Amino acid sequence: MRASLRGRALRGDFVHAPVRGEIEVLADHVIRIGDDGTIVSVAPASECVPDDTLELPAGQVVLPGFVDLHVHAPQYPQLGLALDEPLEVWLGKYTFPLEARYADLDFAREAYGTLVSDLLAGGTTTALYFATVHREATQLLAEICLAKGQRGLVGKVVMDNPETSPDYYRDETAEAAVADTRAVIDHIRALPGNDRVLPVINPRFIPSCTDDALAGLGALAQECGCHVQTHCSESDWAHGYALERYGHTDTVALDGFGLLTRKTVLAHSVFLTDTDMDAVRDAGAGVAHCALSNMYFANAVFPLRRASE
Ligand SMILES: [Zn+2]
Repeated sequence: MRASLRGRALRGDFVHAPVRGEIEVLADHVIRIGDDGTIVSVAPASECVPDDTLELPAGQVVLPGFVDLHVHAPQYPQLGLALDEPLEVWLGKYTFPLEARYADLDFAREAYGTLVSDLLAGGTTTALYFATVHREATQLLAEICLAKGQRGLVGKVVMDNPETSPDYYRDETAEAAVADTRAVIDHIRALPGNDRVLPVINPRFIPSCTDDALAGLGALAQECGCHVQTHCSESDWAHGYALERYGHTDTVALDGFGLLTRKTVLAHSVFLTDTDMDAVRDAGAGVAHCALSNMYFANAVFPLRRASE
């Protein structure tokens, strides 16, 4: 589809939402696409229809690509399985053992290939991915996104805290975690022909990281200007963990480590205080929230209306 539309025009009905809360329908329009794949013009078909225009079949409409702000790529094989435990138990019982399997690049290639293809088939043209702690498998995910034509933002998960991360699945040291993150950033940025895949600095969440790792990643974020993602105040357990460890919230701690930037996406953030909300807004950071996940893991609701004001 991508290649075949370059330098051509497409006629049909198009639907988009250029302003939040509003939907615009462009009935019987022609979109011309340049040789570089970008849109050259949008006009009613009554004005002009170039000779080689592709016509959409009746009953089909074109939407902009979907953007998924929070995908745990390695967890795709357990999609749809029951959630019978709270977050901190679920991680150790099911999720860390699954993620550890991505040390095997053949397994990673198969699982990540299926995921990216399935997301694209569903219209998700941009995805912000948590990968695993593994440097090579994370780089492989970025390569698969590029090969399949998805705008992937890909992060090597950092979890080096031996108190909360199992022996079989964690970064060996804070230094190794930061060095591997840097290596993944360099690798993704140097991928031949990479015009769409970006690296992400990706502490899993504060409980899984030592202060040395968080400080190192914060310095790296300032240095390389990459996107940052992490879970923030997701469950009451995670929220309480930061309060106990630091005497303040996840958001304040992340800010202190240099990890709250205008390119930061905080996942969940269900328990943000008013002060946290102000800090997120002042930094220009964003929140990725999922009402379903919040019900499973937080037993709470993200205050979307308050956050949108
Ligand atoms: Zn998550």
